[in-house]
Amino acid sequence: MKRESGRHECQNCGREYNNVDVAVKENNVNWPSHFPENGFCVDCGSTNIKHISNEAGFEETFKQYEEKCREILPFYQELGLLTNFEVRNGLRDYEVLRQRVQYNIKH
Ligand SMILES: [Zn+2]
Repeated sequence: MKRESGRHECQNCGREYNNVDVAVKENNVNWPSHFPENGFCVDCGSTNIKHISNEAGFEETFKQYEEKCREILPFYQELGLLTNFEVRNGLRDYEVLRQRVQYNIKH
């Protein structure tokens, strides 16, 4: 996972940033980097933004995430509330995803 190498976290409010573009050609994935240019946290204005590094930590987090998904997904699937959406363009996909979810809830 290349994304891990650019992960940063604001030590004050916990907001995460990424200063590396992530592109996976075969999946048509293109996440632009996301980092405050002036070095100030967008949320709290702190400059105490630190690089998070350790692959092991990431894998552990990802494993927990997968396990949680396995537990809750069948529940939402049953309710017909599940939206399958692959984020391919990072934050630029947010609006599309939001509309898709809202459509699902209303129909
Ligand atoms: Zn912050």
